[in-house]
This record gives sequence, C-alpha cells and structure tokens, in this order.
Amino acid sequence: MPPLPRECPCGSNQRYRACCGALHDGAIAETPEALMRSRWSAFVVGRGDYLFETLASSHPDRAAPREAAVRELSRARERQRFLRLSVLHASASEDEGEVLFVARIFEKGVDRSFAELSRFTREDGAWRYESGVLVPADRLPEDTSAMTRDAFLALASEA
Ligand SMILES: [Zn+2]
Repeated sequence: MPPLPRECPCGSNQRYRACCGALHDGAIAETPEALMRSRWSAFVVGRGDYLFETLASSHPDRAAPREAAVRELSRARERQRFLRLSVLHASASEDEGEVLFVARIFEKGVDRSFAELSRFTREDGAWRYESGVLVPADRLPEDTSAMTRDAFLALASEA
C-alpha cells in the first residue's frame, strides 16, 4: 500500500488522520455527509473493506462475494484518479439522509466526472450508502458550484 496522505482527500483541509482516517479506523460517521466524504477518501486510499462495510444491506453489491468485492473496490484507485470532491448539499433526518456532490475523476485521461445525489440510511446506529442518482459531467453546467438540488434533479430527469 502507498503511504497514507497527510491532507485528507475529502477536501476538508484537515489531516487525514483526524478526518476520514479516523472513520476508516472505526469511528462512527455522525452525518451522511461525513460518511460520504469518508467513502470518497476510501476510494483514494484503497480501503475497499471500508467501502464494502458502509454499503446499506439493501445495496445490490452486498450480494456479491465479500472478498472479490473488496478487492475490486480497493483497486479502483489503480484505474481512476480521484481528483476532487465537492459537496453541494447535504441533509438528514433521524434515519435517512442525502448528499449532492460533484466527483472529479479521470480514467486513462478520460473525464469520468459526475454529479450524484446519494441516499443514505441509518442501520444499527451507523450511516450506510443506499443508492444514488447520477448525471455525467458532459450534461452538467460548466460551473457546478451553485447547482441546487432541484436543478440537479431536473437534469437527472432529462436522461
Ligand atoms: Zn476527510
């Protein structure tokens, strides 16, 4: 495994150890946004185990054999460059939450960036990733920084 980053890959401007690294080491994510950020960082550092464990029980990938799924998730970083995460919106009730974010990702020089509205659910006290609606970069506005949840959903429904 390559050395762990000093700065947290999630863009929080904190140390990895004090931010997503703490969650990767077993701390509980307080919010869906914190879980989402830690999943992004898990892709960056190759923590397929964490990515698998933080899937909701209803997520289809949960049905895959664990070992193969974890290996595949850990290797995503070998194919893709996870450049930047931008969280645009996050909200949560007691047991359900959502996060709208833009992921800047390149794969073999091709822009694989996308925006996603992710849904999270709380199971046994821990937030888990349930599902997401995704819009690829080529259908997003040039400047996504001000994109609202409604604007994103309008784009998503045009597919
Ligand atoms: Zn972080």
